[in-house]
Amino acid sequence: MTKFTDLGLSKPLLDALAAKNYAVPTPIQAQAIPTVLTGRDLLGIAQTGTGKTAAFMLPSLDRLANPRVHPIAKRIRMLVLAPTRELASQIAESARTYARNINLTTGVIFGGTPPMKSVREVARGLDVLVATPGRLLDLVDQRAIDLSRLEILVLDEADQMLDLGFIHALKRIVQLVPKTRQTLFFSATMPKAIKQLADAYLTNPAEVSVTPAATTVERIDQSVTFVNQAEKAALLTLYLQTKEIERALVFSRTKHGADKIVRQLTAAGIGANAIHGNKSQPQRERALAAFKSGQMPVLVATDIAARGIDIPGVSHVCNFDLPDVPEQYVHRIGRTARAGADGIAIAFCSDDERINLRDIERTTRQKLPTAPLPDGFMAAVQALKALKLPTPARGERGERGGGRRDGGHRHGRPSGPRVAIQPIGDRRHGEQRSDQGQRRDGAVRSDGQRHPQRIGSHPAHRPEGGAGKRPFRGRRGGGGGQGRPNRAQG
Ligand code: AMP
Repeated sequence: MTKFTDLGLSKPLLDALAAKNYAVPTPIQAQAIPTVLTGRDLLGIAQTGTGKTAAFMLPSLDRLANPRVHPIAKRIRMLVLAPTRELASQIAESARTYARNINLTTGVIFGGTPPMKSVREVARGLDVLVATPGRLLDLVDQRAIDLSRLEILVLDEADQMLDLGFIHALKRIVQLVPKTRQTLFFSATMPKAIKQLADAYLTNPAEVSVTPAATTVERIDQSVTFVNQAEKAALLTLYLQTKEIERALVFSRTKHGADKIVRQLTAAGIGANAIHGNKSQPQRERALAAFKSGQMPVLVATDIAARGIDIPGVSHVCNFDLPDVPEQYVHRIGRTARAGADGIAIAFCSDDERINLRDIERTTRQKLPTAPLPDGFMAAVQALKALKLPTPARGERGERGGGRRDGGHRHGRPSGPRVAIQPIGDRRHGEQRSDQGQRRDGAVRSDGQRHPQRIGSHPAHRPEGGAGKRPFRGRRGGGGGQGRPNRAQG
């Protein structure tokens, strides 16, 4: 079996890996590290969860450290472009960890933070900068950054970059960097448009490909339940109340839909937060931190908010709405069953979505087993109807009637209302959304895992229909992790 010491990395990096307790390289690391160390371009087909960050970061850091060239003001030596704020933060965190023994400078910039903060971040020059494309170009326009001496360019999650409409930004950025550079290009999928982009960026690249979608799917216990759209929330509530759930990630097609699910779960006594493109950066960070720590065991997400995020210990993924793009189903359920663990993925399919289901089954080359509606379902539907839902917060109303899909915008602007749903305390920043890419909780918190538990139980939903005290254990409503109520997410 390949060991890290076989790959040609220098000792300070091996020491950093030992400190992280990484025993053996993942397949993409074993393939990519020796190649990247030679300075060759790389085309990697891999998704998050395969260890691809270390696969490109470790050898790049090694090259930047040997020989060590000190960046001067505004100059960047290695640029990593990531589609979402969350992923950018996550990559920057990894860079900091891996660079701990080699004294390289790292930084991260993304929209949703004060522009001056980004200007300051790069002012003295950096060895490694992780950026979302929109904020990077803001700095370019302000002449606050100099990419003319870039040595290494990394494009991460290229397919998502395209989905988010970053193509023009990418084309502009590539004009700003030197032709003689090393380029590392990663994408989970390789449709024609991505291949063309890769060809434009890369010179004679080595190719590595890991974890074809179908193999990830095999380890996951999947099922589909046929249910009316209007009754999905009751089904979800019942499911969460009756199963042993450690952490459940629920996927909604729209931002409005995600907020509504949270309101319904909250009304039923189940603590949940939503994460999507209309949430402010602090809200998203809190929601993720609360989910990771186990304080809030249910997270309702839209696709672009959840993609690329590494959340260990997700026991259940619920496709509340089936995705239009079948590959997205694979990405979604890949949030569970990570690191060799088993996971459970359930899907709710309304009549309208049968065609989506057929596409998913074709893509994954398997027929999803049908799970019947569970006992107590009709009682759960009635009970949920009888509950008074919390009033939508201001920003949520803006989406009414439209139910827009998160990330349906293709020209660098958010599709939702410009005013994000924010708790009072977060409004002060007046956030600028120069990149609509979504964000992640970068300040990776510990993920104190909880034992499996029943998430909550509303009296009206208990099989015996009793009306006693709620044995609810998850915290209610929003405010994830901050110990204060957050009406906007309620
Ligand atoms: P990534 O695909 O880069 O997002 O990595 C997914 C997760 O795997 C992260 O939590 C990494 O810290 C972790 N990881 C990466 N490489 C290794 C390794 N060789 N051994 C164990 N864990 C790893």
